[in-house]
Amino acid sequence: MKTLEQIAAALDNYEPTALHADAVGLFLARWVEPLAQTEELGILEALGRVLAQDVISPISVPPHDNSAMDGFALDGALLRAGRPLRLRVAGTALAGRAWSGRLAGDECLKIMTGAILPAGLDTVVPVERVRLDGAYVELPADAVRAGDNRRLLGEDLRAGQAALRQGQVLGPAALGLIASLGLPTVRVFRRARVACFSTGDEILSLGEAPREGAVYDSNRYTLFGLLSRLGVEVVDLGAVKDEPAQLEAAFREAAARADAVITTGGVSMGEADHTRAMMKKLGDVAFWRIDMRPGRPMAVGRIVQEDRSALLFGLPGNPVAAMVTFLAFVRPALQRLMGCTACAPVLLQAHCAEPLRKKPGRTEYQRGIVSRTAEGQLSVRTTGHQGSGVLRSMVEANGLIVLPHDRGDVAVGDTVEVMMFEGVL
Ligand code: AMP
Ligand code: MG
Repeated sequence: MKTLEQIAAALDNYEPTALHADAVGLFLARWVEPLAQTEELGILEALGRVLAQDVISPISVPPHDNSAMDGFALDGALLRAGRPLRLRVAGTALAGRAWSGRLAGDECLKIMTGAILPAGLDTVVPVERVRLDGAYVELPADAVRAGDNRRLLGEDLRAGQAALRQGQVLGPAALGLIASLGLPTVRVFRRARVACFSTGDEILSLGEAPREGAVYDSNRYTLFGLLSRLGVEVVDLGAVKDEPAQLEAAFREAAARADAVITTGGVSMGEADHTRAMMKKLGDVAFWRIDMRPGRPMAVGRIVQEDRSALLFGLPGNPVAAMVTFLAFVRPALQRLMGCTACAPVLLQAHCAEPLRKKPGRTEYQRGIVSRTAEGQLSVRTTGHQGSGVLRSMVEANGLIVLPHDRGDVAVGDTVEVMMFEGVL
């Protein structure tokens, strides 16, 4: 088996101490494989899950030509341009009940929305367009064209056609579509299990008394939120001291219980702590310094124990850096692990409302607040101080301004791309 470093070394311009952010994304997209196990779930349990196979429609939807309006159904061949039309109403067709009569040449059928259009009737004139006159209706000239207000058999889906594709995340519309096919269950990838723990001697758990030089563990909570939003099962292993025996036990437990392990802290260069060393000992790990801000140091790899293998992501300890590296790399990797094929985040374009300092040669993720100007354009400003420890900036922001690797300073009014938090945070 090739080691991670050997695989990564095949990347274009691989430079582990100055890695292009795009290269990391590409590497993970190639390296991470979807989970092998799938399960069959009732539709209502499947919200947010990823389809493990195409859903083939067993029926056509709609199953008949039917009316899109309440009105009067007629044979479109009776219509003459510029001429009104007077027809006798021969009966009524209700939704859910087929009308089995026959019409003479000067007759029409009162019809409700969703009712089957009998053979020979291809046009519906809405009730509000006609004048009623006892048993007759009068259509003004050019009230409709032949074929208007008709829903065609199979216009939503044809029997035998793939209604949904493997790899699609099931949202509300997809649940409804599956139900419209009469299917009560659906086959999805199983949920990924992700274990996480924070590392650092200075990390305090909630409930502990404050002490000098120590900080409360926030990464554990942001990660819990990020992972929960992704729909993974979270195994929260708390905070672990920079102490080899404790770290080793935590890594072993995490890898035994989960498909992926996420840690924060202790991956910077030249650090005196033991996280890095322990990852090296237990796993096949590449340490990268990514040309990005925030979030330069990161470890990516796997821990193999007996016959199980777990992905490993060692994120930086700084709270903003941990979140940004999660959003940029870990989230798409976990989506891929759960079988998702089209999971790239949506980027909006907005005009920048303030000048931004930016050095070419690294990707930057600045916390942005997108709003709409009086003229209806999207505009984005930053949350101010962009320090990688300022977690408040993530709370105030509604998206990340993504400044690509080669970009330089941004002037007021320049267009920038923003990765919106909606649905993610
Ligand atoms: P490290 O990546 O371990 O060098 O940590 C970088 C910075 O992030 C240090 O100031 C740490 O105190 C802080 N930090 C590390 N882990 C956490 C955590 N779980 N919650 C809050 N801050 C943290
Ligand atoms: Mg540390």
